[in-house]
This record gives sequence, C-alpha cells and structure tokens, in this order.
Amino acid sequence: MSVARREAADILGASETLDPQDWDELRAQGHRMLDDMIDYIAEVRERPVWQPIPDAVRGQFQQALPRAPSALGDVYGEFSELIAPYATGNVHPGFMGWVHGGGTAVGLLAEMLAAGLNANCGGRNHMPIEVERQIVRWVRQLFGFPETASGVFVTGTSMANLMAVLVARTATLGTEVRQRGLGDAGLTAYTSVAAHGCIAQAMDLAGLGRDALRRIGSDHAHRMDLAALRARIAEDRAAGRRPFLVIGTAGAVDTGAIDDLDALAELCRAEKLWFHIDGAFGALGMLSPQIAPRLKGLERADSIAFDFHKWGQVQYDAGFLLVRDGERHRETFAAPVAYLRRETRGLAAGSPWPCDFGPDLSRGFRALKTWFTLKTYGTDKLGAMIERTCALAKYLEATILAEPRLELLAPVALNIVCFRFRGDDPNPLNAEIVADLHESGIVAPSTTTIHGALAIRAAIVNHRTDVQDVDALVEAVLRFGTARAK
Ligand SMILES: *Cc1c(COP(=O)(O)O)cnc(C)c1O
Repeated sequence: MSVARREAADILGASETLDPQDWDELRAQGHRMLDDMIDYIAEVRERPVWQPIPDAVRGQFQQALPRAPSALGDVYGEFSELIAPYATGNVHPGFMGWVHGGGTAVGLLAEMLAAGLNANCGGRNHMPIEVERQIVRWVRQLFGFPETASGVFVTGTSMANLMAVLVARTATLGTEVRQRGLGDAGLTAYTSVAAHGCIAQAMDLAGLGRDALRRIGSDHAHRMDLAALRARIAEDRAAGRRPFLVIGTAGAVDTGAIDDLDALAELCRAEKLWFHIDGAFGALGMLSPQIAPRLKGLERADSIAFDFHKWGQVQYDAGFLLVRDGERHRETFAAPVAYLRRETRGLAAGSPWPCDFGPDLSRGFRALKTWFTLKTYGTDKLGAMIERTCALAKYLEATILAEPRLELLAPVALNIVCFRFRGDDPNPLNAEIVADLHESGIVAPSTTTIHGALAIRAAIVNHRTDVQDVDALVEAVLRFGTARAK
C-alpha cells in the first residue's frame, strides 16, 4: 500500500456515498411515493381546493438544521402529513385564481425521469440539449418563425420578458452596451396599462428604470390604444428620447384581452422599434384553430415570451423565450470564458449552448416534461383543451348575465371572467366573498380591480375544470354573497 493510500485509509475506508445501503428498500419506498402521487392527482376532486395551514403545521418548519440522518420513510411521512395537504391547489379543477396550469400525470412521470438523468442543460454535447432544440424547432413552427430564430427555456415569462428587454436594448445600442453600460442612452419602451407588472420590473432590472416604460391607455376591450401609442412615441422623439421597444400583450392577465398584434407589428416596422409580445398564457392559443386567427400578428414579432406551465399544462416551471434573430439573442448573453471552451468533438462540442442565450449557466431539463406533454397528448388535443377553457368562460359569462344578483365587469376575450356580487359597498363585500370561497375549499378564484371595481376573477386554465366547477363557483358566490349582504 502506498503512503498516500495508507494515510487516506481512515477517510476512504468509510462509505460516504449518498446511495442507499439497501436498494430494494428504496425501491419499495419509491413505488409507494409514486402510487400516492398518482392517487393524489386521480382523487383530487375528493379534496378541498385549498385549506388554511394550521399554526401547528407551520410550526413544524421552524426546526434547526438537521445534522443527523432520518429514515426516508419518516421524512416522506412528514411530506404526506404536513406539505401535500396544504399545497396551492392548482391541480384541483376548482382552482381559478391568477393564471395557474393544472399539470398532468404525464408531466409528473416526466419530471421523475428528468430527475433520474439529473442533466445540466446549460450546454455540452448530450441528448437532453437536443430535446430542447427539438422544442425550439416546434415553437418556431407553431409561431411561424424562421429557422434562424432562437429559443430557450427559462423559469417563466417574467424572466423571458426581462431577457427580451435586454435583447432589444443590445440590438438598439450595439454589443458595446454590454461593456460600457447604458450611459444616458435615453431609451423608452411602450406597453399598455393592462400589461403584466413584470414588464415594469424588467425595465427596472435592466437598468432602464420604470419611468422609461410608457403605459399607454387601453380601449373598451382593454387593448392598447394605438393612436395614443403613436402620439407618445412622437412626443418622446421630439423630446430627444430614444424609443426602442413596444411590448404587446396576447392574453392580458386581468381580462384575457389581446392587443391588436398585427397593427402593433406594422407600427413597429414603420417606427423601427423592437416588437416583443408577452404571450404568457395566450400565445399557446395558437394550438387552437379557433383562437389562432385572433393572434394574427404574433408571427411578426421580434420576440415572444410565454409559458408552457400555464395553458400548456406542463409542470412548473417551463417558461420560454423565442427570438426571431437568433444572432441578436446570442450576442446579448454569450460570454467566452476559458472553462466553457467549445470543441468540435467530445462532450464539449455542440456550440452554441443554451447558456449562450440567457443568464443561467446550470439549468435543469425543463424540455423533457414539455416534450412528453406535447408528444403524449398531441397538439390537437391540447388545442381542444384550451378551446374548452374558453367555452367554459363563455358559459360562466352567460350565467352571470342571466343572474340579476351578479354583474359582469369586463368583456370575456378568452378564458378569464371578471364579475361581482351586487350589493352595498361592493369592493369589501366581494373581497370577503373571495376569502369565503377560498376557505370553503369549493373553488379558488382570485381578485383584480377593473376601473376601480374589485372583481371576482375566474381564470379557467386547468384542463380538469368542468361545467360542475363553474356551477359550483356561481352557486357559492350567490350563497356567500347573500349571507354577507344581510
Ligand atoms: C403569468 C403572466 C406573466 C408572468 O409569468 P410567470 O411565468 O409567472 O413569470 C406575465 N404576463 C402575463 C400576461 C401573465 O399571465
């Protein structure tokens, strides 16, 4: 035995791998977990959508760092008792809050497979990267983008919007901006008052500042007012500012409204501005032959941000950014460093890598659950499911219009319905009704404010939501509303 080997014997003698001593025991535990999670989804209707977390349960998560090991079965017991019953509830068909996808059983299994491979999809020459490239090709096809367009998975549309602002900035000012910073470039961007809050945050994080985002008013249908947009651009140019970016919305978070994307594309071409679309949930409306014509102009955007984890029902998280000019996209993020050297063969081949198209280096295998979802269901079925959520929203709208105690607060453009229970002092009343609904476990809509009116907002995104859930929502609103209005 060498001296080095003998000196190391103490530490090398003990087995410190994290693999189990007994694989059969782990296998049995794993099968129980998988069965339980399949039941969790299959039997979701038998549980409340959401339930308040008891203080005692919250209190269990105030413990000291666990220095000693615990049996896997015991830790799983804590998961089953303390975590699983108190999840968000978006798996449940009665969940109608914010814009949350429901996930699928197929996505659950795909996540397990991805975890087994534990691939790092930042780069290098391996098949998981090819899966992501396959999705990029499919997304190009879906949105009518050229082969030179690039795409990359990110956490969500908030991140994708931020990255789009950065690509537009670099395209406008040139790659020197990456070295020198913005200086006093005076860049201004434009979006509608109905745009998602993450767009103002993107301007903030990009160092352009929230004030440089002009919030343009919207029309009766909650679409960006084009005359006002044109006027504001002219005003900014006259004042020596540098307009560079217009952000249209395909599916506004409050109401589902779709900006006139074709007109915005035309305006951006004439004004030589970058045209980005926030299509967080709405862009996947392209999967439905009924909705696709209403997204006309999407195919003319310079970039599109959207989520597979909303209408696409892919498990969280699976955001995506598509950029027409892939070279501009790469120029914004690629950074040559010695330890990421590219080769023409071996594991370091296959450049460019996903890490050249965004700020993340280490990245999980989001493409796999998306690939499984698209292939297993097929896009026709996903499109029909999306269409059905819109039909349910129309059914809810018709029910509200036929019920004198309820008032519709915004036109129903897609799958989002904003309404309220009529009564004295309706804003606090409707806020209480929504909290009652959550605590009842029957349904979980959220709220928003439409022209000063607090609205009960039902966003029908989950593929499990059905007529009975819409009926349950209306029935419960009337019941809680009547009880509170007394
Ligand atoms: C959900 C949403 C976002 C934010 O997307 P995340 O995936 O939550 O980051 C942005 N814009 C719109 C219109 C949305 O609906």
